[in-house]
This record gives sequence, C-alpha cells and structure tokens, in this order.
Amino acid sequence: MSSCDLQVKSKYLSEVLSKVEAKNAHEPEFLQAVKEVLTSIEPVILKHEEEYRKSALLERLLEPERIISFRVPWIDDKGQIQVNRGFRVQFNGTLGPYKGGLRFHPSVNQSIMKFLAFEQIFKNSLTCLPIGGGKGGSDFDPKCKSDMEIMKFCQSFMNELQKHIGQDVDVPAGDIGVGSREIGYLFGQYRKIRNSYEAGVLTGKGLEYGGSLVRKEATGYGLMYFMREMLKANNIDVKGKNVIISGSGNVAIYACEKAQELGANVIAMSDSSGCIYDSNGIKLDIIKDIKEVKRGRIKDYLNYVPTALYKENSSIIPPIYNIKADIVLPCATQNDINLETAKILVQNGVIAVGEGANMPCTNEAVEYFIENKVLVAPGKAANAGGVATSALEMCQNSMRYFWAFDEVDKKLEAIMVNIFNLCQNAANEYNYPRNYVVGANIAAFKKVSEGMLAQGII
Ligand code: NDP
Repeated sequence: MSSCDLQVKSKYLSEVLSKVEAKNAHEPEFLQAVKEVLTSIEPVILKHEEEYRKSALLERLLEPERIISFRVPWIDDKGQIQVNRGFRVQFNGTLGPYKGGLRFHPSVNQSIMKFLAFEQIFKNSLTCLPIGGGKGGSDFDPKCKSDMEIMKFCQSFMNELQKHIGQDVDVPAGDIGVGSREIGYLFGQYRKIRNSYEAGVLTGKGLEYGGSLVRKEATGYGLMYFMREMLKANNIDVKGKNVIISGSGNVAIYACEKAQELGANVIAMSDSSGCIYDSNGIKLDIIKDIKEVKRGRIKDYLNYVPTALYKENSSIIPPIYNIKADIVLPCATQNDINLETAKILVQNGVIAVGEGANMPCTNEAVEYFIENKVLVAPGKAANAGGVATSALEMCQNSMRYFWAFDEVDKKLEAIMVNIFNLCQNAANEYNYPRNYVVGANIAAFKKVSEGMLAQGII
C-alpha cells in the first residue's frame, strides 16, 4: 500500500509519509512498521501538529541515529573462508542506552533491521525502564553449523561490534538464531578484547556469569500476562481456552508454559517446516527436549506422541492457522499472518491474537481482526517482557547482585500489567475502546516524543 492510499487528515503526517516512502523505497518491512505506528498516532499528531512540524519531530524519529554495517569473515570447518554481513541499528537513544536483540537469520537485511529497531523504540518506552531502541544481527544462518563454526562466527562478529557497544552505550541481546550459546561466545570475545568485565554489555547471559533468572522465560511469560489482563478486561477467562502457537523457539516455548499454567489448552505448535497438532494438549517437556536440547525438528514430536498429527508447510498459509482455536499466539517471525489467514482465523471463531513475535501480522490482518471484534495484543506491548527483563538483568549487573526467580517474575508481571494499563488508558483517552494496537502506539510515542522535544534538535 502506498502512503497515497492511506487516509490521513494531518497534512504534516501525509507529507512525512510521502517523504519516508520516497527515501526508503526498497525497505518494505521498515515502511510497513512506520505506517502502522504513524497512522495510529494521528490523533496525537493532530493535537500537536505545528509543534511537531517546527521541530521536525517525525522526520527525526524516522531517521536512525546511526546504522553500522560491517563485514564478518570467518573460517568454516572445511577451512573455507565465509563472509557475512553484520548490522547494528542504533535508532533512538532518547530514553536510555540503545537496547535490542541480535538476529542471525539468512533473511536479515537493512530493512528488517530498521523495522525491528524502530519497533524496539516504542516497545522499550512502554516498559517504563530507561532504555532506547536498537537492533542488530547478520544474514548468517546458524542452522546445520557446528558449535565451532558458531563460535568462530560470533567471535568475528564481536571483533567489530565491540567498537560500538557498552553498558552505557548500547546493550544487545538475543533474538531469532541467537540464544544463550551465542550470547556466551559473544560475551567471551568482548571480555577478551576489552580486558574488562562489563557484565551489563550484553543480556541473556548464562546464569553463571551475570545472567538473570526468568530472562529465558520472560517474553513468553510476559505475553501470557498481557493476554490474561486483556481477556480479564473483557470479562473472558483464559482458563479452558484452546490455544495455537506458531514457532517453537524461545518465545513460543515459554508462552506455552505460562498458557498451560494459567489453565489454557495448547493444541498446536510449529517450526519453519510444519506444525504438530495434539488434541490432548502439547507435552511441553518433549518440545523442550527436541528444540532446546537436541536442536531437532518439530516433526520429531511424533516419535514420542504417535497419536499427534503433523502437517508440512506447503501453501502460502501456514497449516497451523487452519486449526480452530480461541487464542492464537504467533511467536515465529514477521508477516506470518496476512489478510487471507486472518479471515480463516475469524471464520474459525478466534477471540484473541497475541503477538509474541515482532510484527507477525500484516497491517491489513490487524485491521481485519479489529473490525471483527477480535482482541489484538500488539507485539510491541505484548512481547516487551523480554526486553524488560533484560533491563532488570542490567540493573542486577550494575548492583553486582542477583534476584531470586520469584522476585524477577513478580517484577515482570507488574511491568506487563502496567503496560496493559498504559495501552488501555491511552486507547480510552483517544476514544478507541478495546483497540490496544492504537493504545500501545500512542502511549509509547508520547513518552519518546516528549523526551525528544525536551532534549532539543539532535
Ligand atoms: P527462536 O530462534 O528461538 O525461534 C524462532 C522460531 O520461529 C523457530 O521455531 C523457527 O523455526 C520459527 N521461524 C523462524 N523463521 C520462520 C519462518 N520464516 N517461518 C516459519 N517459522 C519460522 O526465536 P525467538 O523465539 O527468540 O523469537 C521469535 C520471535 O519473537 C521473533 O519475531 C523475535 O523478534 C520475537 N521476540 C523475541 C524476543 C526474545 O526474548 N527472544 C523478545 C521479543 C520479541 P525454525 O527452527 O524451523 O527456524
């Protein structure tokens, strides 16, 4: 959709949308994220149009403070030299040191890095913790690589990245393809080069060396805390609801764990090859063993539960979304649910969608859900538990102390309840009842914009 097709009342917003589109024409994911945020904060823009125009607030908000792109050469197990491209986008440091994960996946490019970093600004704002927005990664594919290859790649990646990060500058963490193993290798290399133990320079670390309890579980647990609050506000109980979860990585696994703890019945999960359906409820210990220990495929679930069903991805619509469920949690990757898929889900009676992944639903899909009274928990709010707990990890590192599991979990829960309330209050204030997508964008934008205006033209 071009900006000309978007119905906006604000002349300033319309001009900004045209400019951003012309300037970033080859960055579709970034443009998608920008349009989603800017069109939904239009009521705020209309209130402050002249002030924002005078200070070029939106133009400044849309231009990353810095993009670092670099070469990552490494030697594979056959002795051959491989070259990947690394990125770090330091998008907006108004609220604190840049903070956001690293993604290692062959699809990584500048557009995806910029969309993720842009979303991160608002997500981090919603946590109410002092963190700015950034993101990074590489087009490196960790699949089918040996441990040695992963380590060599991480070391080479850090040789360059270390020049640009620091516990008061920029604090990366994990994302797709970057888990505790990769964070360990990255941290080791940083420490060796700097000859200094700066535990707070990376989050998602192992518990033995400065990691926080609950960080592993945080995004998935946080998603379900937000979902529980959203359903409660609409007089719906999560207990007994059928849930499908796309993905079977970090976010998906711990969303499943908390959903089951809250009494929901998780009946399907997936990976990039296909999905499994177990009408008796997913046995999560088996999924954890397959994915966290053996690094296998979701299909292997059938070796343990022969009564479950498996369907390979073949069509454009991932087969998991043909399964009837009350709650859908897309926890894999961006643009997983398009308009066509949204129509199937609505037809099948979905009542709530919780975005565990970043931008897993296209803008058209989100609009369709909302038009059809489906409750949507937007990613930048619902999956903010991960980065919030990362900020708690930084806090513990600064104190040179650590908190018990329950203490961190209670803080996480309180943060997610607060995020839900912020979204709900902003939605109500601007007369978009039950529209938590608009609510999240407005609440997050207000804080960032006020900070930017206060800090002058920089
Ligand atoms: P993981 O790498 O642990 O897991 C990703 C999962 O998604 C895997 O099951 C993977 O399957 C699947 N997947 C990846 N790409 C595709 C694709 N193109 N099509 C279908 N399935 C795919 O990542 P995370 O769980 O950490 O992250 C998942 C999402 O959540 C991402 O959007 C991430 O940005 C977001 N997120 C993560 C946070 C965190 O704390 N980890 C915090 C906030 C958001 P396969 O193994 O086959 O590739």
